[in-house]
Amino acid sequence: MKKMERREFLNTVLWGAAGSSLILPSVNLKKLPKSSDKPQEETSVLAQVLGTAQDGGIPQIGCYCRNCLRARKDARFTRLVSSIALIDLIEKKYFILDATPDIRLQSDKALARLGIDKRGRKNAPDAILLTHAHIGHYTGLMFFGYEGMSTQNLPVHCTSRMGRFLSDNGPWSQLVSLENISLRTLHPGKELSLTSRISLTPLLVPHRNEYSDTIGFRISGEKKKLLYIPDIQSWKAWNRSIVEEAEKVDIALLDGTFYNPEELPGRDLSKIGHPLIQTSLKTLGKVAQKGQTQICFTHLNHTNLALDPEGEARKEITNRGFRLASDGEEFSL
Ligand SMILES: [Zn+2]
Ligand SMILES: [Zn+2]
Ligand SMILES: [Zn+2]
Repeated sequence: MKKMERREFLNTVLWGAAGSSLILPSVNLKKLPKSSDKPQEETSVLAQVLGTAQDGGIPQIGCYCRNCLRARKDARFTRLVSSIALIDLIEKKYFILDATPDIRLQSDKALARLGIDKRGRKNAPDAILLTHAHIGHYTGLMFFGYEGMSTQNLPVHCTSRMGRFLSDNGPWSQLVSLENISLRTLHPGKELSLTSRISLTPLLVPHRNEYSDTIGFRISGEKKKLLYIPDIQSWKAWNRSIVEEAEKVDIALLDGTFYNPEELPGRDLSKIGHPLIQTSLKTLGKVAQKGQTQICFTHLNHTNLALDPEGEARKEITNRGFRLASDGEEFSL
């Protein structure tokens, strides 16, 4: 029984993403909350949330759990795989953080926001930035290859270990050899300018690193900063203080894969490999109460108890001054 549950869990985490974009109706951005609903300083830089699900998406392939059923019945509850676009409205450039299996739908949303919809115009992202080599974070690169958009030297920024993984293993190596993509090395801790208004610093984080190491990003716009960490083993295992890192920024989009151990019966807590939302509420409670940093959870697993809009978990998150990130919402940076 225990063995079976473990296998089911691994299937959930590792293999569920294929095809999730095919069963998801496109989400109408107008129906979703936007940062513009709240008074915010207008800037020319946006972080557009393109997805908030764990690698397998919501609903997950073949899954009939309550959360997946809810999402199948009502498209407002579907969530694409975690990703954000950074948009410079002046230079008309967009950058996608993580190439997910849902990237076709996600790049449409960034293009729509930029008002780019004409044939023959430059429609590829200006660059892709990758956090790591798990399926929800890089496999969307396939759409830039020979069988897809067939881009020419699309800049793909990643760590040197991630770059070696792509150059040394098919089918990704073909993207490199045909020069569909051009790998650029990110150095953890070293700031990179994407435009004159957008820069980011990659931060190395602990995670299951079978194929690559893993990074998160601290992003700076014209006026605000955003911390993006979709996958991390735990806050304790990090060589940085998440409290200090969260206090440095205005918005933190953090790994909220699981709410609590109840959604993972029979699992060894020490081997979950993500900070539970319940733990993050405690660790970051003071930061949330101060109210200077908006803390939102992303990378939500389809089992996550907080996905129930009426549930206790969601109430607890809200009461403590946190919230779940939503697909389609925007932050003015
Ligand atoms: Zn992930
Ligand atoms: Zn499910
Ligand atoms: Zn991962």
